[in-house]
Amino acid sequence: MRGPLDSNGTRRRSSGRGRLVRRLVASAPERVADGVWIVRGGFPLKTMNVYLLEEDGGGVCLFDAGSADMAGALSFAGRGLGGISRIVLGHAHADHRGAAPALGVPVFCHPADRPDAEGDGGDHYFDFSELSFPFNHTLRMLLARWDGGPVKITGTLEEGDEVAAGFTVVHLPGHAPGLIGLYRERDGVALTTDCFYTFDVQSSRKGEARVPHAAFTLDTEGARASIRKLAGLGPSAAWPGHADPLTSDVAARLERAAAGG
Ligand SMILES: [Zn+2]
Ligand SMILES: [Zn+2]
Repeated sequence: MRGPLDSNGTRRRSSGRGRLVRRLVASAPERVADGVWIVRGGFPLKTMNVYLLEEDGGGVCLFDAGSADMAGALSFAGRGLGGISRIVLGHAHADHRGAAPALGVPVFCHPADRPDAEGDGGDHYFDFSELSFPFNHTLRMLLARWDGGPVKITGTLEEGDEVAAGFTVVHLPGHAPGLIGLYRERDGVALTTDCFYTFDVQSSRKGEARVPHAAFTLDTEGARASIRKLAGLGPSAAWPGHADPLTSDVAARLERAAAGG
């Protein structure tokens, strides 16, 4: 890959050390659908997924901003794709807004998550007593490390609003009040942030789709209803904010997740 342009417009080679540091905290961008790239990152297991969507006018729109330590890798990946135009937050949690303040571009979210994006990242409804020892301690510590702090929200997006690369907003409240997914009718691709999990938040072990963990979820019954709403769209693939996507039998697996523990 060619190095980014510096402020004088000359192309600068990425240093070996810079490249190594970026690879330790995040993967190189990988194309997962038409006009959609993923960067996987975050300390310690690269379980955060950030999506880069091609804008009509050039550059990319980020969907979610991962953890604070991904800022350098996201900035580098964005420059390689024409520059980051804006960020759309799937929801306000620390591990999704993390890199947003450092990237210095306009940030958008659903109005119901705006206070938390500009505030404590949803921490006021997290319940660490739902986690077993020692994860109640380690996850509290990791969340603080992942967070980049409050984000100034430029504007808000609601159900049906068009974003980039043919995606529109779907409101999927429950895990967070203003959680939004992005859905593209023409190929059925959904980007779903924390609407559902495909991993165990304590062990980080990957697995089948499930309701997001109660410790970080405002309204579990609302989250079940939103997973059913997503299933009802009949997606061909659902790419979450952590771990692995669902790429086969998607609606049935989402229905099972909504009904499960
Ligand atoms: Zn979350
Ligand atoms: Zn998350």
